[in-house]
Amino acid sequence: MLTKREKERYSRQILFKAFGEEGQEKLKAARVLVAGVGGLGSPVAMYLATAGIGKIVLVDSDAVSLSNLNRQLLHWEDDIGREKVESGREKLRKMNSDIQVKAVVEKITPETCLNLLAEVDVAVDCLDNMKTRYILNRACVEKRIPLVHGGVYGMLGQVTTILPGDGPCLECIFPHKEERGEKIPVFGPTAGFTASFQVLEVIKLLTGIGELLHGRLLYFNGEIMECIFAEVKKREDCEGCGGINGSR
Ligand SMILES: [Zn+2]
Repeated sequence: MLTKREKERYSRQILFKAFGEEGQEKLKAARVLVAGVGGLGSPVAMYLATAGIGKIVLVDSDAVSLSNLNRQLLHWEDDIGREKVESGREKLRKMNSDIQVKAVVEKITPETCLNLLAEVDVAVDCLDNMKTRYILNRACVEKRIPLVHGGVYGMLGQVTTILPGDGPCLECIFPHKEERGEKIPVFGPTAGFTASFQVLEVIKLLTGIGELLHGRLLYFNGEIMECIFAEVKKREDCEGCGGINGSR
């Protein structure tokens, strides 16, 4: 049940008819993993916190550096050198003291990932490399946890929602390829709009409102202000989910 203070705090989203107090209660009961607390993870965690998600688990093994500050809104000048999850937790607690925020300083490995997923309902991919994304994807497939993917490059953003057991996994959509590990260009607002789309997906997933980006990949090109959707399907020989005939 919502407290009087919660009813007031979230009144503008409770006003949305399909959502209402029932939707807010679902968010309050929800636990969401934010994998990566950088350019995407910062605004994702901020919107999750202010929307009233009951428990947010932040995982990242990096510390804040000066070159993060153009886009990683949870981290400020005084935070340089601090663990990102600690810096993030402190700000989120100040934004909303009615929710729980857990900070995990850990690298995402197949083992750590399964443990992290054991305590959440949804995972949000705010990572910056495909290698770690594949690990998160496979763990989500195994644990049947929905995964909201986001990625950015320059002024380009992409989002899709993976529902394990139903439709493609992340490896179906993006088969393995070598990464050069180079730093990529990113504008803060690119991470911002991509993160906003991701959190809308999380809210819809948790409450059953609207239509998800399930089987669809949204590309937004901010340079020419164009949005396109690509249909994405399960890949026959996918190792991530077992493919078309696989059981996962
Ligand atoms: Zn797959």
